[in-house]
Amino acid sequence: MTVASTHVFHRQLQRKPPVAVSGQGVYLTDAQGKSYIDASGGAAVSCLGHGHPDVLAAMHAQIDKLAYAHTSFFTTEVAEVLADKLIANAPEGMSHVYFVSGGSEAVEAALKMARQYFVEIGQPQRSHFIARRQSYHGNTLGALAIGGNQWRREPFAPILIPVTHVSPCYPYREQQAGETPVQYGLRLAKELEDAILAKGADSVIAFVAETLGGATAGVLVPVPGYFKAVREVCDRYGVLLILDEVMCGMGRTGTLHACEQEGVSPDLLTVAKGLGGGYQPIGAVLAQKKIVDVMRAGSGFFHHGHTYLGHAIACAAALAVQQVFERDQLLGQVRERGDFLQRLMHESWDKHPHVGDIRGRGLFWGIELVQERASKKPFDPARNVHVRIKREAMARGLMVYPMGGTVDGRYGDHVLLAPPFISSEAELTMVVERLGSAMDAAIA
Ligand code: PMP
Repeated sequence: MTVASTHVFHRQLQRKPPVAVSGQGVYLTDAQGKSYIDASGGAAVSCLGHGHPDVLAAMHAQIDKLAYAHTSFFTTEVAEVLADKLIANAPEGMSHVYFVSGGSEAVEAALKMARQYFVEIGQPQRSHFIARRQSYHGNTLGALAIGGNQWRREPFAPILIPVTHVSPCYPYREQQAGETPVQYGLRLAKELEDAILAKGADSVIAFVAETLGGATAGVLVPVPGYFKAVREVCDRYGVLLILDEVMCGMGRTGTLHACEQEGVSPDLLTVAKGLGGGYQPIGAVLAQKKIVDVMRAGSGFFHHGHTYLGHAIACAAALAVQQVFERDQLLGQVRERGDFLQRLMHESWDKHPHVGDIRGRGLFWGIELVQERASKKPFDPARNVHVRIKREAMARGLMVYPMGGTVDGRYGDHVLLAPPFISSEAELTMVVERLGSAMDAAIA
């Protein structure tokens, strides 16, 4: 059966995408029978690939027992067990998990939790957020306001909440000559401190950052010491630190949470995508005990909520994903396959005239494309390099996640790779071969 409705409101209104009909392992198949190797994991979602038998079995079992119970009446066994597991493996000091249905919802909930915390401790004058340029935090209005991509925000101004944006940690373009990575990180932390002081030391609610930048910048890896310095600045002024690991979290960088590798624990941590592995829409905010304690002793109520939060089938899928991670020791595999992929990309593209930078961790990689390596000059946006790469890759049976706006929201192209953790070395080799050919065809 090939379904071809004209009524689905696709984001790209002028071009209907192919119809996906099945998925198995790292492959998706369309209605024409063509198969695609999924090196994007959707958008860093499908950590276990498609059709994983353990996740499907857990979902089936949950459907047979109970699909849905509204959280104003009930909690469910599966939500409780999942929360315990997430907290057992959470960064230091985390005590509670607030479930939602996706990444933007997680960010919205975290922003509101942070605000409510300050209202409850008698600091309602704190009303301002600080975030970073070239960041992405979701598409709902609050998350969009926090996001640092000007091009995405512009059509919705002035209805967004006011936010100060500071520099991202983007060594390829912004670390100065003669500056060590550590000095660069300290300079960025100082910039954050100046932004807090410019607003007034007791006016800022939180600094929000992706631990590793993702969708809009092609994976930005923090320099050593950056997040420790950021944590210190936040603590100095009583500002909360919200880390958004919707994309880079849940094992993608080789540890369950990317912030583990930075040696910091945020006040609020958002996760989604890999939490449900694409089997169900689910996200979560992990919260520090001090925040939950204040809200419990105060109003005793979080002024926020969605109909589907903690959905039983979504929790069953997420719990199964976690169990497979542990049973199959997948985080070690992410680190190992990540090293393999990194070596292969360097061997293949270190001398490529248009590959400016290859950066990432684990199975989360960005390739920044430039017109000229020496000057790092980006391509003219009119050439639509990232759109062409996606088209050429799809033609070669490859799904990658190319985006534009790497440099300032308008200029700059990158390709994001986030293959499933179960990808074999042979499959990763195929990804690099097909992507190399797609990039050459798109740029020619
Ligand atoms: N935060 C980050 C870091 C993301 O990468 C994304 C999605 N790309 C979101 C939030 C929003 O998640 P969702 O699309 O599930 O709403």
